Amino acid sequence: MSNKSLRIIVVLAVLCTAWVIVNQFFWIKKAVELEKNIFNSNVTIALKNVAVQLLKMNKNNSPVDSIVSKVEDKYYTVQINDKIDTVVLKHILKRELLAQQIKTDYTISVFDCENSNMIYTEYISYSNTDPSDMPLPSVYSKNKKSNNYFSVYFPHLKDFLTREMATWIVSSLVLVLFLFILSYTIFIIFRQKRLSEIQKDFVNNMTHEFKTPLATIKISSEVLKNPNIIQNPERLLNYATIISNETIHLTHQVERVLQMAKSGKDSIQLNKEEFSLSPLLQEIIDKTYKPLIRSRGGDIVVQMSSEETKIYADRLHMKNVIGNILDNAIKYCTDTPNIQIRTTENKDGVNIFIKDNGIGISKENLKNIFNKFYRIPTGNLHDVKGFGLGLNYVKIICRQHGGDIKVTSELDKGSEFCIFIPKK
Ligand code: ADP
Repeated sequence: MSNKSLRIIVVLAVLCTAWVIVNQFFWIKKAVELEKNIFNSNVTIALKNVAVQLLKMNKNNSPVDSIVSKVEDKYYTVQINDKIDTVVLKHILKRELLAQQIKTDYTISVFDCENSNMIYTEYISYSNTDPSDMPLPSVYSKNKKSNNYFSVYFPHLKDFLTREMATWIVSSLVLVLFLFILSYTIFIIFRQKRLSEIQKDFVNNMTHEFKTPLATIKISSEVLKNPNIIQNPERLLNYATIISNETIHLTHQVERVLQMAKSGKDSIQLNKEEFSLSPLLQEIIDKTYKPLIRSRGGDIVVQMSSEETKIYADRLHMKNVIGNILDNAIKYCTDTPNIQIRTTENKDGVNIFIKDNGIGISKENLKNIFNKFYRIPTGNLHDVKGFGLGLNYVKIICRQHGGDIKVTSELDKGSEFCIFIPKK
């Protein structure tokens, strides 16, 4: 699938998701309103029925149309204007509320106008909540009326409505789960795509890396096949040397790939020993890198914090680690390479800083360069060879020593890698 179609699919998925979320919020809001209205009308019906029955018992024919008032969401009053028998009230109220499917705790209070006081208050519980925990509504005292009335207060209205909305809550959770699965699937698709691109890049790099030496070997062997070459031993030796060098180069490449590919699977066996850092650095630089850098007109300098600095590490792997970073410092430099190596030492361990004046690495690429097979897209510098395995190997080795590697870099200015190896 092309990048463009994948991007379109993701944008569509994000838009649909946003639409579904907004829709769900809208409907939940509506459902809450609806539940509140249903509750209000059920309570009003129940209270009206209670009022009708109380008045009937008192042989009172007053109309009950506007007898029930909602003072606030949880608090209702019923103006009876007649004698209220609290035992009967309690009984009828319970029955009528149950008939309307209102199964939540409430407090009944009865106001008597003769002594201008509440003559009865009782907490009716469906749960085990201690009634002493139940504060009376704020409007309770303000709302004393001159006539007899009874009131009903629902302290747990919120919990009741939440229970009533259980299906909505479950469907919202299912939606969240579905969105999570969708995001995860998109994440997997992107990761798979990235992996397949990395694999393609790797195969391309590999082909590129092996093609050139193989072509050189092929041409050289063609020349050697010429029977007249024997007359020219100098030429013969020249071509034989080319073949030998390219074969060594190829063998190194194959070994590097195998070693680095293996480094991801198993932990590498380290043969740690204590040795002086300075001679190791000098050996690497003098033998390989100084001549290479000098041939390009550049220089490499080493500044040791102390000639005595010792590290406890695997000598061979440390050589490879420093070699990989120096290889890169030269490879990714379009200018004359100038490299500085310095070391610092403290009670915890030794830091080796390797600074170059190369092309630098942008912030967004910096976090990926230690990933296996990762190569920064270099645009017109496409000819720089590599497999994207070097820095991954370096990181693994540093970590296996209990240390780490850090990098700071600025585009077009250069990079500085810092290897930390802890003390024994
Ligand atoms: P490669 O085989 O591609 O060199 P590495 O793992 O050594 O693989 O490096 C990963 C990528 O990090 C390289 O492709 C390169 O783009 C970038 N990189 C590494 N070192 C440097 C450096 N010193 N300067 C600029 N870019 C670098």
